[in-house]
Amino acid sequence: MPQTRRQLLKTAIAGTAGILAGPGLRLAAAQQSAPGALGNEKLADDLYVVRVPGEAAVIAQTSANGVLLVDGGSAAGSDAVLKAVAALPNGAGKINTLFNTHWHPEQTGSNEKLGAAGITIIAHENTRLWLTENITWPWNGQKFKKLPKIAQPNKTFYDKGSLDNGVQYGYISDAAHTDGDLYVYFPQPNVLAVGNAAYGQGWPVVDWWTGGWIGGIVGGLQRIKHFANKDTRIVPAVGPVLSYADITEQIDMYGTIYDSLNRMLNKGHSPSEGVAAKPAKEYEAKMGNADEFIRRSFESLWAYLSPDA
Ligand SMILES: [Zn+2]
Repeated sequence: MPQTRRQLLKTAIAGTAGILAGPGLRLAAAQQSAPGALGNEKLADDLYVVRVPGEAAVIAQTSANGVLLVDGGSAAGSDAVLKAVAALPNGAGKINTLFNTHWHPEQTGSNEKLGAAGITIIAHENTRLWLTENITWPWNGQKFKKLPKIAQPNKTFYDKGSLDNGVQYGYISDAAHTDGDLYVYFPQPNVLAVGNAAYGQGWPVVDWWTGGWIGGIVGGLQRIKHFANKDTRIVPAVGPVLSYADITEQIDMYGTIYDSLNRMLNKGHSPSEGVAAKPAKEYEAKMGNADEFIRRSFESLWAYLSPDA
């Protein structure tokens, strides 16, 4: 596994270097959608963002033939999430497909219940592999227990795929959030679900232990932008639905931060010095305190660029 991850990192770095060449664009302070209280959101007659308080967003495509979900909430929130899905128009049918956008427990908490019911659980192969291991995050000691076999994704892929109903899915190979991020694209309503490869609110979690890194955040957003068009609605796991313009703005912001951190790393600065330099200061009024994000991002550069990687 580490070999695979490191190989991937190098590929991601090679890709990002080109993307980030040239002067970083500076953002004027731009307004962001007010977080507010987000309820369920109808994207099309058969497509909804289901928002249960305290849970990451779940996307539900409903039909008379059954229901497709992108992510399933946490284990503690699973019952509430599934109840909210069943209450949607045409939502009470059997769930037949569940996508895991990545391995985190906020996304995979319905796996056990739905897996036991024989539902197809689709994920990138790296996501499945993480779910077969106990994981401890080194920066805060948080532990994650591996999932039982029945809860693990039972249909994995490396590159991309599509379903009979035209839904497309694929790998966001930049390691924006983890090394197993996927997108799900609904062509007719032009909706792109991206999990935590983009955030609609607040600073991202940089889970460098399972492959995410600051360069991958930029690369992932570039990939999302390339895949989308100006009318695409991009649905993140956290916060409001994003527009093409939002993604463009985020690429500028994270690209600028990435450049700053890279410069500090090259001067031999430590993560603490990186945090103290406040490289995201100009965005904090809009985005909130960036210290945790900057520390994890700096560490992620170490994880990717250190000589033994
Ligand atoms: Zn996550």
